[in-house]
Amino acid sequence: MGPGDPAVFKTVGCSNHSGRFDSCLFRMYETLPQVEALLQHPSIGKWFVHVSRPVAADVLRTTIEEFRTRIRVEEKGFDLDEIVSACEKALATISCQRLQRVINATGVIIHTNLGRAPISRENWERVGPLNYSYTNLEFDVAKGKRGKRSSFTSLLLTKMSGAEDALVVNNNAAAIFLILSAFAKRKEVIVSRSELVQIGGGFRIPDILKASGAKLVEVGTTNITTLSDYLDAINEKTAMVLRVHRSNFALRGFTEEVGVRDLKNHLPSDLLLVVDQGSGVVDRRIPSETTVARHIASGADLVSFSADKALGSVQAGCIVGKGELVAKLGKHPLFRTMRIGKTVSSLLEATLVDLLNGVDQPVGTLLFRGVAELRKTGRSILERIKSERLSLIEDTMTLGGGSTPDESLPSLSIRLESSNPRKDAQTLRLRPVPIITTIHKGAVHINLGTVMRHETEELVSALGDLVEAP
Ligand SMILES: *Cc1c(COP(=O)(O)O)cnc(C)c1O
Repeated sequence: MGPGDPAVFKTVGCSNHSGRFDSCLFRMYETLPQVEALLQHPSIGKWFVHVSRPVAADVLRTTIEEFRTRIRVEEKGFDLDEIVSACEKALATISCQRLQRVINATGVIIHTNLGRAPISRENWERVGPLNYSYTNLEFDVAKGKRGKRSSFTSLLLTKMSGAEDALVVNNNAAAIFLILSAFAKRKEVIVSRSELVQIGGGFRIPDILKASGAKLVEVGTTNITTLSDYLDAINEKTAMVLRVHRSNFALRGFTEEVGVRDLKNHLPSDLLLVVDQGSGVVDRRIPSETTVARHIASGADLVSFSADKALGSVQAGCIVGKGELVAKLGKHPLFRTMRIGKTVSSLLEATLVDLLNGVDQPVGTLLFRGVAELRKTGRSILERIKSERLSLIEDTMTLGGGSTPDESLPSLSIRLESSNPRKDAQTLRLRPVPIITTIHKGAVHINLGTVMRHETEELVSALGDLVEAP
C-alpha cells in the first residue's frame, strides 16, 4: 500500500474534520520505506538465509504497517535506522521459531520439547553421504531388483530383541495405532485401569483405541489389577490384551499387577498379548525398566517402542514380535501412510549397529557419565568465571521421555543467584545458541547433567557475559 493508495487517504481523511487532505501526515507516510527498498538494505538481506526472502518481505510489510499506525497515533515521523532496527527485531523473533541447536541445562535427558534423544555425531556424519546421494532404500543390490524397505533395520531389531521379525514406522503412537487397526478393529481390547495413561502432548491410550475402531474394555482398579480381572473380561469379541508402560507416572504403595509371562501363560492362545514398552530401553544398566528383549522372552506377541527415547536414536516407532503378525502389519494399507524414509532408516540402522556393539549413544553417555566428571566440569567453570553469584550445588537429573518416572539420578547444577531469575533465564535463552534452564527457589539452575561435553565453552561464555553485564 503506497501513499497514493485510497486506503491511506481514507485513514488520513478520517482524522481531518475539515475534509481536506492532511498534507503533514501524508509527508510522514511518504518517509516510510517501501518493502522492496528495505529488502535491498544490507542489514535486512542477511536474514534471508534464516527465514527466506518471501517470509522476510511479509515481516517487513507488517512492521511498516505498524509504523504507519504509529505515525497516525503519535503524529510524528521515524527515521530509517529506527525502522530497520524494528524490522531486524521482528526478523529475529520469527527466526527463533526455526529449528535450531539449543543447550539442554534442564536435567531431563530425553526432553520431548527439546527434540528427545540427540543423535550420535559420528553416526550423523556416517550417514550423511547416503542421504545426499541415491541409496538402495528399496532395492536389492545383490539381486538387482526391487527389495524390501528397511529390511536390514528389521534384522538388527530382531537381533536386539530376540523377536522373529520387526517393522519400523514414524513413531510409537503410529505403531500402536497400526497394531490396533490391524488386529482389533470392531473387537475388544482389554487394558488395566492403571495403564490408561496420557503421554505428553495429547497421546491418550483410550483415544487411540477409539480412533482405531477398537473397543476398550477396562479391567481392575487404579492400583490393583489381577490375573482374574483380565481372564473374566474375555469373551468371543476379545482380540487383544494391551499392556502399556505407565510412562510418566509411577504407581506406589498398595499395588498389584500381572507380569507379561503370567498373562501369556493364562490367556487363550488366540488372543494377542501386545506390550507398549514406550521408552525403547534395551540397556540392562537401567534396572528399573523392563527391556524390549525381556518382554519378548516373557511371551509378548508384539512389543512397540519409540526409537528417540532411551534407545537414543531418531524419531521412529519400532514393532517387534511374531513373524506372521509383523508380516500382516507390513501388508496393512495403513502401514504405507507411516513408513519411514532413508534419513530415518539410515540413522536408526547406525544406532542399532552401535548398540549391538556396545557403543553408547549420547543418551547413554549422559546417563552414565558420573558425578565426578560433572564436579570437575562445574569447578572449572566456576574457577574461570569467578562470581559471587555462581555456586555448584548437588542436584538430580532424570532420564525423561516417559521412562523411570520415579527415579532421579545424581547430578550437579550451577546455581545462579538472581534478583530477576526469569529475566536471567530469558537472557540465556536469547543467546545465539539458546541455553534452556530451570528456576528453583529464586535462582537459575544450570543442570550440568544434560549439558554435553562440547558445550562447556559456550556455557562459560554465556555465564561470563551474564554476570559481567551491568
Ligand atoms: C512415548 C510413548 C508413546 C508415544 O510414542 P511416540 O514415539 O512419541 O509416538 C506411547 N506409549 C508409551 C508408553 C510411551 O512412553
